[in-house]
Amino acid sequence: MRFSSSRPDKSRRLQPRWWFLLALAPVVIVLAYVAMRPTSVRVLSYGQFKKKLVARQIKSVRVGSSELLGELTEPSKDGLREFRVSRVGLERDDQLPALLDQYVPEGAYEADSGPGVIQNTLLPGAVLAVLLGGLYLVARRAGFGTAMAFAKSRHKMYGEGPDRVTFDDVAGIDEAVGELQEVVGFLKTPEKFRKLGGRIPKGILLVGPPGTGKTLLAKAVAGEAGVPFFSLSGSDFVEMFVGVGAARVRSLFAQAEEKAPCLIFIDELDALGKARSGGGSGGQDERDQTLNQLLVAMDGFDSNRGIIVMAATNRPETLDSALVRPGRFDRNVTVDRPDIGGREQILRVHVKNVPCSDAINLRNIAAMTSGFAGADLANLVNEAALMAARAGKESVDHLDFERGFERIVAGPEKRQRILRTDEVRRIAVHEAGHALIARSLPGLDPVHKVSIVGRGGGLGGFTLSLPEEDRFLHTGTWLKNTIGMLLGGTAAEELIYDGEISDGATSDLQRATQIARRMVTDFGMSPALGRVSYQGENRSPFIPGGSSVEASWSEQTAREIDLEVRRILDGCLDTTRSILSRRRAALEAITEALIARETLDAAELNDLLSDDWA
Ligand code: ADP
Ligand code: MG
Ligand code: ZN
Repeated sequence: MRFSSSRPDKSRRLQPRWWFLLALAPVVIVLAYVAMRPTSVRVLSYGQFKKKLVARQIKSVRVGSSELLGELTEPSKDGLREFRVSRVGLERDDQLPALLDQYVPEGAYEADSGPGVIQNTLLPGAVLAVLLGGLYLVARRAGFGTAMAFAKSRHKMYGEGPDRVTFDDVAGIDEAVGELQEVVGFLKTPEKFRKLGGRIPKGILLVGPPGTGKTLLAKAVAGEAGVPFFSLSGSDFVEMFVGVGAARVRSLFAQAEEKAPCLIFIDELDALGKARSGGGSGGQDERDQTLNQLLVAMDGFDSNRGIIVMAATNRPETLDSALVRPGRFDRNVTVDRPDIGGREQILRVHVKNVPCSDAINLRNIAAMTSGFAGADLANLVNEAALMAARAGKESVDHLDFERGFERIVAGPEKRQRILRTDEVRRIAVHEAGHALIARSLPGLDPVHKVSIVGRGGGLGGFTLSLPEEDRFLHTGTWLKNTIGMLLGGTAAEELIYDGEISDGATSDLQRATQIARRMVTDFGMSPALGRVSYQGENRSPFIPGGSSVEASWSEQTAREIDLEVRRILDGCLDTTRSILSRRRAALEAITEALIARETLDAAELNDLLSDDWA
């Protein structure tokens, strides 16, 4: 996507040579000032001067404000006649005037104001002025001040042409597209809407997890309507200098008024629109000011003139409530992760530019990518294409997609890493434990692949379970079984190695604990704590752990939560342990097969377990 950007920033039009001269001017002046000072003088200490004075070796003296200048009767050894005595000592000696009267020849003693008015006041003044002037210009260029030219320079304009984005480029989020069709209609023919007296929303907020296509949608709306598109990111408004962000907002809306009908798009609105707080640091002040200006600007224009403000965020819970009041961002469009059909369509959009083999079944690929957002799918297509290119193939086939998928979810294979034989065995035991539990506990996603080939991210091996269909609801039993599966790796190590486990399973333990904690605090699944939500406020619906949870319960309750989490984990671990000891033979069979073949797929696992089901 390329957008031609217009940069009507005046200060940028200054030629580089001018800059050079301007920067040089103060230096030249300072040099000249220094050069004008008498340089060929002897510097005397006050003591030396006094001695010479008494010895009548001094012909004339001028007492300046900061120093004492004079001429010797005879040039000294180095041929210098003039001398200078620095101020130190001059003032404290009140005999000096008398001494001068006595020893300096009549008329050759004067007390003036030193180097003269020009040198003393005008010149430094001029230097200072030039320096300040230069500084101002440089600072302006760097973004200081509220110059309109500067404030204007950030947005991108929509460029017509081949990289125009349309709704055809957006797939799998039909509801969101449907809601925005109306906006396109309005931007195309505002008169029609005005005649009917319909009220068009001023602000539309696209809300959804990262990578679901919010930015893409905004571009598509502009592309479909064929109107100018002012695109800015929320962080563009937040500058170091107070007032710049607000100036940018003013300038943005002023330009939009000229270009109406048009679309203003503020990406990552949360960077700018976080709830205002009293007090705070300088950066906070600046953001508050910018936000206030945005509120004022949104109130100030009439949407019937054909300006629509769109914004996107994945942290709607952090937005200032004033932003989402009627007359501002009063319409929310949710852009959710796509379902299986949506994923298939998104894949279809992205494989258009990639030569694929005929046998490829996008439905299957969509089925294995539950939870992927549009951006993840675009990435998957790209990874698959890279895999094919690496293998020197003409087109991308299903295997490439599988490889690309594994690379995305588990990181790249680490075949080069050399493991000790006992480490290989331990990893095999661990993964066999996961796989066996996943197969034994009812309702869990079927195991797609087990491997002991190392992946990035510190995993020894991996066990990949894939859902057959998207799952939207999880029962308490399913959650517990999942915990049991996550604990299966270490439990197997424990069983085979007489209670000794390794440190290779931190993320298993982390995930298991996370699930158990949410069962207690979010899902009301702990009988001891009751059907109560212990969620903190402002929890992000899209980003797990996205914001700090402010405890609004007692320490006693916090302790009970911890105990309950512990109880759930212990219970799941017990179940897992008993399954593994009961099916120890199967566990060992999988372990040996893994050591021999490194990777097992679902069918091979089935074969191994076929006579064990009894
Ligand atoms: P967001 O702004 O929601 O974080 P983006 O719009 O930046 O997500 O999406 C990033 C990229 O992912 C897009 O440029 C596009 O290639 C791809 N993408 C995301 N969602 C979709 C979608 N619904 N249809 C097609 N491509 C998508
Ligand atoms: Mg975005
Ligand atoms: Zn594990």
